Amino acid sequence: MRHVAVIGSGPAGYYSAEALQKAFGEEVRIDMIDRLPVPYGLIRFGVAPDHQSIKAVSRRYEKVALSPNVRFVGNVTVGRDVGIAELQGLYDAVILATGAPHDRKLDIPGGDLPGVIGSAAFVGWYNGHPDFADLDPPLDVSAAAVIGNGNVALDVARILSKTPAEFVGSDIVAHAFEALGNSKIRTIRVLGRRGPHQIAMTPKELGELGHLEDAAPQVDLADFPPAQDDSALEPGLRKSVTHLRDFASLARNKRKEIDFDFFAMPVAIEGDGRAERMIVERTELTPDLRSVGTGERYAVECGLIVSCIGYQTPPIDGVPFEHGRGRFANDEGVIGDGLYAVGWARRGPTGTIGTNRPDGFEVAGKIFAVLGPGDSRREGGAGLDRLLGARGVNVVTFSDWQKIEAAETARAREGSPREKFVAIAEMLGLCGAP
Ligand code: NAP
Repeated sequence: MRHVAVIGSGPAGYYSAEALQKAFGEEVRIDMIDRLPVPYGLIRFGVAPDHQSIKAVSRRYEKVALSPNVRFVGNVTVGRDVGIAELQGLYDAVILATGAPHDRKLDIPGGDLPGVIGSAAFVGWYNGHPDFADLDPPLDVSAAAVIGNGNVALDVARILSKTPAEFVGSDIVAHAFEALGNSKIRTIRVLGRRGPHQIAMTPKELGELGHLEDAAPQVDLADFPPAQDDSALEPGLRKSVTHLRDFASLARNKRKEIDFDFFAMPVAIEGDGRAERMIVERTELTPDLRSVGTGERYAVECGLIVSCIGYQTPPIDGVPFEHGRGRFANDEGVIGDGLYAVGWARRGPTGTIGTNRPDGFEVAGKIFAVLGPGDSRREGGAGLDRLLGARGVNVVTFSDWQKIEAAETARAREGSPREKFVAIAEMLGLCGAP
């Protein structure tokens, strides 16, 4: 029997567990360790609450979680409750699937003023992440700016634009549902430092903006290259650019506007004790498609600024880290002897949920090649339980999580978003913790 610890129970973690089961069959025991009492990481806390079809992938992870050789070991923080070296002593292999839950910093003057919020915090707030429940973003302002031209920027712009009725069927958390329902924001400006041909937004997500009940996207066609240049784009990007072009002909008859501002690089944020305006510099592209400032600057009034410029993985003591790229230093998933990384912790924060699957299979294959089936001299989960028990850690199991999930389902009311528990103490109470 081999013992493997997977740190992180998001998509990369569950795909790795699934791949380990395929490689080793019955000959492996897998512990999925998570610092929160609930599983699924990015699926629960990152994917937009109105994208339930994407969130449904958690049913696939649940199948893995319910198999007899996989355990969920929740409410355990690696680095605080147990060290990485201790885990390496207990398990034959340790896989870091910790994702990239921290914001890349918006490093401009005024970037830390109240009202400037990173997307991890803002998305975590509306998705019920316990760390961001008290965020209280300023929604009593008339204009917001969203920095970045990726899918997260689109998620944020869409969530800021939707009416309460458009959240029916979602699992937006109650505090965000109420706050957004009272929002005074009417203009949402999405700023990209490069042009329409350099966006990182996918067609389905961009197309959704054209069908909002009370908000309409707007672009200025003067920002676009000649239409015939679109034919050189790869098909997905070409579709996205077509959606953008189509936005130019939409009527401006809705209460809210989502304005796309291209070649627009934020250079400072100003305000009296809180964000009130952003100073933006017009950019142009270099021959290798980087953006450089032209010196022309203008001010954009906005009391809420959400910076959606990418994420990073938090380092763990004793694990080599590439600070420039915000991920663990690794060679195709291998960090060192018996230590591996998958998903965003391995590659950085790019790709869809499914992109993590091959990572898991590659690393499981490497672990199998090193270990093969056979008897381990390590204690595995029994050793972890002993150690955590001695430290008084309140471990949450998968059946505990099922109690939390059942209680969330029981709270569901017809015509309202599904409710989620946010406070860790409340979740632990449901698991019967003292
Ligand atoms: P992303 O796709 O990498 O986009 C980041 C954006 O931020 C880019 O437009 C980038 O511009 C811009 N940016 C970076 N640094 C900046 C700076 N200092 N100032 C101004 N702009 C800056 O990242 P993401 O949107 O966080 O998404 C992460 C991953 O999750 C992506 O793979 C995304 O597709 C995926 N995702 C998918 C979905 C979905 O499928 N529905 C939803 C959400 C997220 P440059 O291009 O100029 O660097």
